Amino acid sequence: MPVARTRTQNISAAQWSPNGGSLGQTDLTQAGGPLYGANVFSPAVQRQRLPKAIFKRLQRALDRGEPLDPELADAVAAAMKDWAMEKGATHYTHWFQPLTGSTAEKHDSFFNPTDDGTAIAEFSGKELIQGEPDASSFPTGGIRATFEARGYTAWDPTSPAFILENPNGAFLCIPTAFASWTGEALDNKIPLLRSMDALAKSALRALRLFGDETTTKVFSTIGPEQEYFLIDEQYYFERPDLITTGRTLFGAQPAKGQELDDHYFGSIPERVLAFMLEAEQELFKLGVPIKTRHNEVAPGQYEIAPVFENSNVGSDHQQLCMQVLQNVARRYQLVCLMHEKPFAGVNGSGKHNNWSMSTDAGGNLLEPGATPHDNLQFLFFCSAVIAAVNKHAGLLRASIASPGQDHRLGANEAPPAIISIFLGTELEKVFNGIESGSGEAASPQSYLGLGTSMLPQLPRHAADRNRTSPFAFTGNKFEFRALGSSMSTALPNTVLNTIASEAIDALSDQLESRLQDGTSLEEAVLEVVKTTYGTHKQVVFGGDNYADDWHAEAERRGLPNLRQTPDALPALVSDTTVEVFEKYNVFSHRELEARYEVFVEQYVTKLNIESETAANIARTMLLPAAIRYLAELASAGSGTGISTLRTEVASGVDEMVERLQGLESANDNYPEFQDVIGPALYVKDTVVPAMDALRSVADRLERQVADDLWPLPKYSEILFIK
Ligand code: ADP
Ligand code: MG
Repeated sequence: MPVARTRTQNISAAQWSPNGGSLGQTDLTQAGGPLYGANVFSPAVQRQRLPKAIFKRLQRALDRGEPLDPELADAVAAAMKDWAMEKGATHYTHWFQPLTGSTAEKHDSFFNPTDDGTAIAEFSGKELIQGEPDASSFPTGGIRATFEARGYTAWDPTSPAFILENPNGAFLCIPTAFASWTGEALDNKIPLLRSMDALAKSALRALRLFGDETTTKVFSTIGPEQEYFLIDEQYYFERPDLITTGRTLFGAQPAKGQELDDHYFGSIPERVLAFMLEAEQELFKLGVPIKTRHNEVAPGQYEIAPVFENSNVGSDHQQLCMQVLQNVARRYQLVCLMHEKPFAGVNGSGKHNNWSMSTDAGGNLLEPGATPHDNLQFLFFCSAVIAAVNKHAGLLRASIASPGQDHRLGANEAPPAIISIFLGTELEKVFNGIESGSGEAASPQSYLGLGTSMLPQLPRHAADRNRTSPFAFTGNKFEFRALGSSMSTALPNTVLNTIASEAIDALSDQLESRLQDGTSLEEAVLEVVKTTYGTHKQVVFGGDNYADDWHAEAERRGLPNLRQTPDALPALVSDTTVEVFEKYNVFSHRELEARYEVFVEQYVTKLNIESETAANIARTMLLPAAIRYLAELASAGSGTGISTLRTEVASGVDEMVERLQGLESANDNYPEFQDVIGPALYVKDTVVPAMDALRSVADRLERQVADDLWPLPKYSEILFIK
């Protein structure tokens, strides 16, 4: 008697023995220690390796944002090559981030053959600074026709080069920007860098109004908390839907899901912890400052978070983090799923994007301070963020849109598609007090008199938390919680930086004119905060974002509720979006239109892949299983029990065939559209519902058909065997 198919496989999936001995973790605090940053051409390595004068010139050029002259570039390239080769690298690549959401690389060898039949290693400043990959197949949204296929990669010296290792070798990665020959951004890095420049300028101008003459640099910061699933690779390779789309397109709800809450913050399973230790070690070598790890809510779901960094380096590190998690998982016979919703019925995965603004003096502009002056400044920047988010709520929503996100936002597990801000009770009270002028009466002890105005005492630590808010103030930063787990953090941060610049400038204009009228700084700031908050407080919401009445309330307030990707994407090209991006030279109108086209096309393509995969699995795997079971039932006699089972399964098969044909016809009959968004709306309104309809009957059959005949591993196995 053979054991049922899945049962034997579960036993082998559960097998794991430690691969190799202890990793020998070292003390990360040791300067120049053997591990942290070992594979990074960091400023410390540069100081060691470059002639003193060259190092100084490089630092100066970086500080001032000046281009590097050829001699300097040659010297840096030579040092970088020697360092990389000592570390075992044989090749280099310009590592860039096209609009696919992932990273791209084309490797070139350092080696050049010589006339005498040997080879030498070469790497010039020119090769370091610029590459010209034949990158004609990346999405451009019409910016570059294929006949002018060249795209240019340009070295980003503000994000350190690093070495990626493989068991059989290593290569040097040079973070780069990617642009068309006309200079238009074809990637995620260029706009992010442009937005950081814009923010630096606006924030510095505001700081000068506050009398700060010492700060010379402001930069945005990012600390992304990454959620992901780990499953045994056995199940992954048994499921064509996971392989092709990253998520399960079928799967009945198991008897036990996440309702016992026994996984969240639970003790980390041994194999998973072993994986985490190795993944973190790889990330430490790359200088990614990983700090936190824990089990998340869904079974099989985990989280990793770094210490925050400047937005550019932090975004590069975030891409590396996703890549390393996926690579290292395979060494443990695991597969790391980054998809936003790999499994229906349990939580999906997001990425919490902690965001703030830092100064070169080590200050944090969203940190309530110890002195009334610092607090005034905090209130100013905080109101600017409130104004920015209220004005551009639709754009923020669009910046995080993807098919995977459509399963999450709006379900009762992740922040809704309505963008609102949580300030915390204390801070909200402060703003309301300033706005109404009645703060003093409401809580007399918490206000300090200061000249003619009243400056509230600010909460030094955020006391309360609201897990349901998409945009929450958490003490000294805002946490944009609605990002999807698989996405690049670049675009949402580009948006945040740019809309914050605009709001800071608008507030600075108001502040400046009041100061010129002779109003005191305290009074002027409070007036500006008062008007700003009054205008924009509709976006502030401290209640339960998952509750149905919030949707009604948000509609009354006029907040956009852009539920699905095709509803959200047009905000990328709305008038307010084009205006703010053009004003701050972050995106030209053409670059925005291009992105809009690319994202719409990606939505349509991804869902087309999903729907064809679903139809395929239904036709060639699930229906045959149900029909085999029907045949077994037919040969089992004619008792009433047997005929009841037969009727159940047969009607399921009938329904499934009908719905399958519905889906196939939806796939085969895309109408012609004149407008950009048309195909996406068709997919949303016709293809997605047809796919859902097919799934519901298939999931019912999964519960009816004999277990040993069902061809796909079930949720009860995939999520729980560790
Ligand atoms: P909590 O969310 O409980 O406050 P942490 O303070 O550790 O926990 O922050 C969580 C994430 O926020 C971490 O990734 C951290 O690096 C990041 N973070 C903290 N401060 C900032 C900041 N000023 N800017 C951006 N991210 C930050
Ligand atoms: Mg979290």
